[in-house]
This record gives sequence, C-alpha cells and structure tokens, in this order.
Amino acid sequence: MSVDIVSRSAWGARPWTNDVATVPLSERTEFYIHYDGGTPVSRTGVAVPQAIEREHLGNGWSGIGYHFVVDQAGTVYEGRGWNLQGAHCPNHNRSAIGVQIAVGGDQAPSDAALRSARALYDMACARTGRQLAMRGHRDGFATSCPGTRLYAWVKAGMPAPGGGSTGGGAATPYPGYLIRRGSTGGAVRVVQSVLTRRGYSVGRFGADGVFGGDTEAAVRRFQSDQRISSDGVVGPVTWSRLMP
Ligand SMILES: [Zn+2]
Repeated sequence: MSVDIVSRSAWGARPWTNDVATVPLSERTEFYIHYDGGTPVSRTGVAVPQAIEREHLGNGWSGIGYHFVVDQAGTVYEGRGWNLQGAHCPNHNRSAIGVQIAVGGDQAPSDAALRSARALYDMACARTGRQLAMRGHRDGFATSCPGTRLYAWVKAGMPAPGGGSTGGGAATPYPGYLIRRGSTGGAVRVVQSVLTRRGYSVGRFGADGVFGGDTEAAVRRFQSDQRISSDGVVGPVTWSRLMP
C-alpha cells in the first residue's frame, strides 16, 4: 500500500521558528509510535496537525515535533518529515522516525489509521534500507504513551488490519484538502467506497486507495447527477454530497 502524505504547506503549517537539524536516513534505526495523550481526539482533518503544532510551539519547540501524524481517516500529515530531527522522545529524536496516531485515552484507533501507520512504517524501511525497530514511546521514556491499545498493536508487530473499513464510513469528515487524480491513501479509499456503495463504479480495482481515471470518471458522473461542477475533483462541496 502506498502512502499519500499531506505536505506541511497543504495543511497550513507555520514556518519553523528555529532551524531544525537534518538527519541522514542512514542514522534512522527505529520507528516510534505515539498517541495524543489521555483525552480522546475529536478534531478531524487539518485541525489535527494544527492543534499538535500549537501545543509544540507552546513548548518552545521549533514547530510540530513528530515526523508524521496519522488521523482516524488514515490521512498522513507531514511534520518533521523524513530528513529532520524530531522532538518526540529524548535520546531518540535522531535515531527514530516518530509518528503520532491521533487518538487519546482508550479511544480505539481506526483500521484506516493503523493501515496508514503500517504503510508509513513499510515506507520508512524501504527508504532507509533496513528493518526499523518497532517501538512505543514508553520503550524509550517513562510515559503512558502510546496508550494501552496502540502499545499492544506495536508489540503485535503493527499488523495492517484487513477488511474494507474506511475508518469512519458515511460520517467521515472532509479531510481539508482536494482529493483528485493522482491522490492516494485513506481519504481516496473513503471516496471510492462511498461511490461504489452509491452505485458509481470506480473500476475493477475497487476501493484501492489510488485515484486514477476510473475514479475520476465516477466522481464526474456523481457530480453531474448532483448538478454541481463536474470537475472530477473532490473538494468540500462534493465531499459533503457524498457523505449523507
Ligand atoms: Zn509519545
């Protein structure tokens, strides 16, 4: 499974307040999972990384400290990215890619979130050319993070859940960026499964998370039936019509 990463500019990240050191991929040996803390997360879309950024700026950090953030729709947001030092766990900010899965307390992570986090792990291993150690924050620091559920998932080897769950189904909120030809990932799967359920075939590959020509054609047919602009791009208006 490929991972579509929403760039810092796409989610409205603020500029780094200080220069952040770069770290060569050759130094990465670990992959750290975090959660948001003791309180369940109700924010969705770009508000998720934006809230974390505010908190981390409030800590006096240069900006968001995680390398990536994964929300309940399975969308991945760029934080420090692949090449910068993190601010997520003392003594592990260079050696580890730190990923927050945006749940808190005993909130269950969605299948989509776990699939995306696992795909990000696989991508990290591919980019570094090594099998990164799977870690929860508490493996490197005295903390409850990443919570009971996510820690058990890490210890189980971070399995990617199967099945067709999209992490929220019909009630999934708009992720905050345009979903269009070339997009991949959790939000695309949501669009494809809803289109399919509503009778708009997205082609023989089904809800594969890859927005190609068949998906674009299905979006256009749906938009035409809805008498809205048939541009084949899923923005907030099309999304709201798709999600009853
Ligand atoms: Zn943590």
